[in-house]
Amino acid sequence: MAVRINENYLKLRGSYLFAEIGRRVAAFKQRNPHARVISLGIGDVTRPLPRAVIESLHQAVDEMGRVETFKGYGPEQGYDFLIKRIIEYDYRSRGIELEEDEVFISDGSKCDTGNIQEIFGADNIVAVTDPVYPVYVDTNVMAGRAGNLDESGKYDRIVYLPCNAENNFIPELPKQRVDMIYLCYPNNPTGMTLPKSELKKWVDYARENKSIILYDAAYEAYIREEDVPHSIYEIEGAKEVAIEFRSFSKTAGFTGTRCAYTVVPKKVMGYTQRGEAVPLNRLWNRRQTTKFNGVSYIVQRGAAAIYTEEGQKQVRELIDYYMANAAIIRQGLLEMGFQVFGGINAPYIWLKIPEGMDSWTFFDKLLNEAHVVGTPGVGFGPSGEGYFRLTAFGSREDTREAIERLKAMKNFC
Ligand code: PLP
Repeated sequence: MAVRINENYLKLRGSYLFAEIGRRVAAFKQRNPHARVISLGIGDVTRPLPRAVIESLHQAVDEMGRVETFKGYGPEQGYDFLIKRIIEYDYRSRGIELEEDEVFISDGSKCDTGNIQEIFGADNIVAVTDPVYPVYVDTNVMAGRAGNLDESGKYDRIVYLPCNAENNFIPELPKQRVDMIYLCYPNNPTGMTLPKSELKKWVDYARENKSIILYDAAYEAYIREEDVPHSIYEIEGAKEVAIEFRSFSKTAGFTGTRCAYTVVPKKVMGYTQRGEAVPLNRLWNRRQTTKFNGVSYIVQRGAAAIYTEEGQKQVRELIDYYMANAAIIRQGLLEMGFQVFGGINAPYIWLKIPEGMDSWTFFDKLLNEAHVVGTPGVGFGPSGEGYFRLTAFGSREDTREAIERLKAMKNFC
C-alpha cells in the first residue's frame, strides 16, 4: 500500500497558457536582447493604491503597535465596519438590502470562486460560459465534478456555453438541466456584459430548475453603460438563487494587498438527496469559519477607506485611467479594421483575429513584429480560438506605443 493522491489533479490541463506565453517571450528576448517588449497581456493592475487607502493602512498599522488598539484574530467573516460600508455603498445605493451576515469578507475572489464548489454535491452538473476564467473549471476538475478531458479541450461532464461574435457573446440557456452556473460579468476575458433582460432569463431558469448561479462581478466597477446590471440582485428573485463575488483587486488596486467579498443571501437554498432545502449561507459560514481565519485588520481598514468621499473619488480616477487606455486600444484596433469587442464596460478588449490565422500564430506575429504581448483566446477555452485578449492595465505611454506599433505592422491579414 502507498499513500494515494487525488487523481482528479491529473486530469487538469497543465497551466499551459501563461507558462507558454512566458516561454515564448523569454525565447524572443534571448534572440532580440535590445527589443523593448510591451505587455498588454497581463490581468494585473499597475497603478498604486489610492491615497485614502494608504493613509488608512498606515493608521491601522499604528493601531496594531499599541496595546489599547492591538487586534488579534478578527471575525472570520470580516469586521462589521467594512461589511456595513459594503452594504451601504455597493448595494443599498442600488436599492438592494442585505443583512450583515450575508456578506463574507475574504482575501480574494479567486479563492472564493474556487472554494465555493466545496459546499455543493459531487454529482452536480456544472455549466460555464466558453471562453471562461479558468478557476471555475479547474476547481471543479479537482473536486471530480468535471469528468475527463476530450480532444476538443472540453471536460465531458461540464456544460460549455459558447460566447462568440455570432451570438454577440450572449450565452444560450442550456438544453439539459444544470445545477451550478458560473457567470462572470463584465466578463473576463471578452470584456462583454449581459443586459438585465438576459440576466433575468438566467435567474428565471435557476428558480425553475432549483439551480444556483455563481455570479462573479470582479469587474463591476468598470461598468459605464446604463442598462448593465451592477449586481445580480438587481434582478427580481435573484436573492433566492445567486451567490455574488466582488473584489477590491481591480476596483481599488488590491491585487497584491488582497481583499474581496462574497454575498450569500440567506434565502439561497441547496437541497439534500431527500429534497430538504438547506440555506447555503449556513454552509458557507461553516466552511469559512473552519478553514479561514479572516483577512488582516490592516487590510480591511485599507479596503474600508475606499468608501469615504475621498476614497470614492480616487477609485473613480483609477478606473478612469484604465478605461482611457481601453478606449485607446479599442479605437486603434477599429481604425486598423479589426472587429473589436469589450473595452466599454471592462478593462479587457477581445478582438477577432483575421480569418485563417489561429490565436497562437497571431500571438507570435505580434511578438515578433511589434514586440507586443497579448493573450491567445484559445487559452480561455475552445470558443476563444480565433480571438485575442488585450488588457487596459498597462501605463498610458505603453498602451499608446503598443497601438502605434500595431498600426505600423504590415500584412495583418
Ligand atoms: N474573477 C475574475 C473574473 C478575475 O478575472 C479575477 C482576476 O483576474 C479574479 C476573480 C480574482 O480576483 P482576486 O484578485 O480577488 O482573487
